[in-house]
Amino acid sequence: MSDISDLKNNRDKILDRIAVCAQAREAGETVELVAVSKRQPDTRIEAMLAAGQRVFGENRVQEAQQHWSERRSAYPDLELRLIGPLQSNKTADAVALFDVIETLDREKLARAIKTEMDRQQRKLRLYIQVNTGEEDQKSGILPAELPGFLDFCRDECGLEIEGLMCIPPVDEPAGLHFALLAKLAREAGLSKLSMGMSGDFETAIGLGATSVRLGSVLFGARDA
Ligand SMILES: *Cc1c(COP(=O)(O)O)cnc(C)c1O
Repeated sequence: MSDISDLKNNRDKILDRIAVCAQAREAGETVELVAVSKRQPDTRIEAMLAAGQRVFGENRVQEAQQHWSERRSAYPDLELRLIGPLQSNKTADAVALFDVIETLDREKLARAIKTEMDRQQRKLRLYIQVNTGEEDQKSGILPAELPGFLDFCRDECGLEIEGLMCIPPVDEPAGLHFALLAKLAREAGLSKLSMGMSGDFETAIGLGATSVRLGSVLFGARDA
């Protein structure tokens, strides 16, 4: 699936599947396709751009710079989303490159993002990552800590939060976690939900996803 026309056909098919799943939604509510370009070769990234895709997700700041720093100027309507964990010392680079950070999950990072946005005069859209499975090794704020953290972001840091993001545990039904994230967002008065990957995006849309993050099902398998 590295041929340009193959990738375009594949993207069209995925967009159709997304549209079918989103039919049950209220009129006008669309589901955004975030193309996850991490560890994908340049040829496929170029093919995806040629197919009309403009919203991309990356999980590492440095790799994202390699993929996108120069392409940005050729595609002014590009939207880049950071979907991987962010170390505080990379915040300046992340704020300079990305339009959306989906992995805000701690106070130190909230402060650092606020400081950098002010310094660079850039306003990014922000999602809080929630560790819905309460896994030790996974980033994200615990569900019980979300209300307090939201207050902190808004009141202490003056940050506007757009929505919530989660990555379900691999060994549990994803739907349980998507439903939990949707409930947390409802309770917090947030309308945007970034959830669903290649294996479970249709389930996620059924449970209210407003954006899905698709890598392998869209581009083909990644480099190891
Ligand atoms: C890699 C990644 C994806 C895409 O994964 P696929 O299973 O290839 O669709 C989505 N979200 C996050 C946070 C990722 O790191």
